[in-house]
Amino acid sequence: MPRPLVATIDIAALRHNLGVAKRCAPNSKVLAVVKANAYGHGLERSMRGFADADGLGLIEVDNAARLRQLGWQKRIVLLEGFFDASDLQAIVEHQIETVVHCMEQLEMLENAQLNGRINVHLKINSGMNRLGFLPSVCKAIYQRLRAIPAVRDISFITHFANAEDANNARVSLAQQVQRFNAAIEGLPGDRCLSNSAADLMHPECAADWVRPGVMLYGGTPADTTAEKFGLRPAMTLRSEIIGIQHIVVGDAVGYGSSFVADKAMTIGIVACGYADGYPRHAPSGTPIVVDGIKTRIVGRVSMDMITVDLTSIASARVGSKVVLWGQDLPIDEVANAAGTVGYELMCAIAPRVQIAER
Ligand code: PLP
Repeated sequence: MPRPLVATIDIAALRHNLGVAKRCAPNSKVLAVVKANAYGHGLERSMRGFADADGLGLIEVDNAARLRQLGWQKRIVLLEGFFDASDLQAIVEHQIETVVHCMEQLEMLENAQLNGRINVHLKINSGMNRLGFLPSVCKAIYQRLRAIPAVRDISFITHFANAEDANNARVSLAQQVQRFNAAIEGLPGDRCLSNSAADLMHPECAADWVRPGVMLYGGTPADTTAEKFGLRPAMTLRSEIIGIQHIVVGDAVGYGSSFVADKAMTIGIVACGYADGYPRHAPSGTPIVVDGIKTRIVGRVSMDMITVDLTSIASARVGSKVVLWGQDLPIDEVANAAGTVGYELMCAIAPRVQIAER
């Protein structure tokens, strides 16, 4: 028997969540973000779930080429562009579109001898100060791109720093929109700004394209609940109880003996640990579901195991079903308790975890 830890990916939930993204931005095309192995859900599987998307966005040229081999015929955009001029041949061959976010990429494109044309997305740094050209130089960069014979269409893209906290005092959503629009005023080309938070909460930002990621997998940006938006969890991580201990007042549990019982307790051992992607820093109290009943983890997360409180779950025994997140337990609730975000939990699922589909 294989170890009972399984991440089940619900393709219908991917499809459903894409539908939510489309309804939030009915006049925009959707570029579904499938970077990081589709946020841990699997590239090929997610491609099927997002068959109705207008394009897919990711990071690596080889994964973009793989999408073509798997039969994806619509747009594919490299969200960080290319890392070396040698990537450009594959970009032309597979008709992949690329972001251009810095002078080095622009120069590589200017100096390349390409035997075909490509679409590029000029990335504008509208306030996040991660990737992109400053608004003041965008028109000049556009002209240089326009002068490259191998460049076909030029689109414009920016990324929000605070879409889930739109009035952020340092960089507000409105400021970024204003800088983006001013940078490209009068230039022809599609515009794309919104991530999940903007797609869900700021329909006014929806332009020619929206670019959601986490919402498609049933997670939400910080401080919102997926259910509120009608999103369905696409990944459910399940395991089983593989051992039980009965402890008395004063007994401690796990490495470092960080949890000490203040009463007689039943402790369940769950087959899942930080080597599977469960966050090691999840503290005692982090929610978990056993036999359909919500309880909490106690003690430190180990490499292969988690210890949980079964004291009030009379049915619990070795073999009892455990949900670590997903259906019956929102991933964001677990992430909040562990001081992180659902994104990180999804992406961290380790290769040794069995994947099932439903
Ligand atoms: N666009 C870019 C450039 C990104 O880096 C990301 C994710 O980090 C997204 C879109 C999708 O963001 P989210 O998952 O918050 O929807």
